Parts: sequence; C-alpha cells; structure tokens
Amino acid sequence: MPRPQKERRVLEPPKIQGLKPMGVPARFLERVYLTLGEYEAIRLADYDGLDHQEAADIIGISRPTFSRLIEKARKKVAEAIVGVKELLIEGGNYTFATQLQRCMDCGDFERFESIAELVNACPSCGSQNIVHLNEWFGTRGGRGCRNRGGFRGGRGQ
Ligand SMILES: [Zn+2]
Repeated sequence: MPRPQKERRVLEPPKIQGLKPMGVPARFLERVYLTLGEYEAIRLADYDGLDHQEAADIIGISRPTFSRLIEKARKKVAEAIVGVKELLIEGGNYTFATQLQRCMDCGDFERFESIAELVNACPSCGSQNIVHLNEWFGTRGGRGCRNRGGFRGGRGQ
C-alpha cells in the first residue's frame, strides 16, 4: 500500500556519495541505495547517539516512523557489508538545513546557511577546485523511485 512520503529535514549532505567494498571489481558489485533520510537516521541515532524521539524531532517525523526508518537503514548497511555490495546514498524526500562545500585540494569543509553565502575560492588555501556537496544529492534525489525498485531483490522481509 503506497503511503505518501513526508518531507524530511537533513542537517547537511553526506560527505560521500557512497562506499565501495575493497578488493572486488566494480562489475561484480550489486548496489544498495540508502536514502538521505536513512543516512540521517544512522547519523543521528548511531553516530551521534541520540534516542529515537530526539532524532525523530530533528528529522521532522514521528518516533514510530523514525524507528522504521532506522531499521531499514541498518538492514541496508548490513547488506552492504555482509552481502558485499556497493552502498550509494541518494533519493528520498528531504531538505538540507545547511550548505556544504569541500575544497578538493586541501580537503577542508565549509558550512553555510544559504546558497548566497557559497564561496568561489577555498578560505584555507585559495583553490577554486571546490565542490558543492548539496548538488550531488539535489540532482539525484528524483531517482529515488527507480532505485527503490532496483533494491527489491535485496529486501529482507
Ligand atoms: Zn583548500
């Protein structure tokens, strides 16, 4: 039964687009897609150690919804590690609370509250080789539905 997905708040974009198993050629790898909401659930509860109610409030969902979200997220991470799959982070209905840029020369991250504040040169080293991480996910978010279909084979229920 399809249920409408509520918009979720994600503090900032993940610093990576995904993870790849070591020592396995890419052509042998299946993919698991972690939505931004699932990523945020893991970040808040498992990385920052918040309880489910606190984490649910930050994302903007109910506690039972959060519990389902993190359960799905953990299954996908387990599937990537144990099932030797590439883990890609994308999709889901979300908004970012902050803008994140990374200098590809010195590796520094810069956070901003709005797009208007984005910089063209790295404040630390002056390089113009800068990536706006939100764009990775903003342009790919619409692929969420197709990716959910692609994940069907790996569902645990
Ligand atoms: Zn730099």
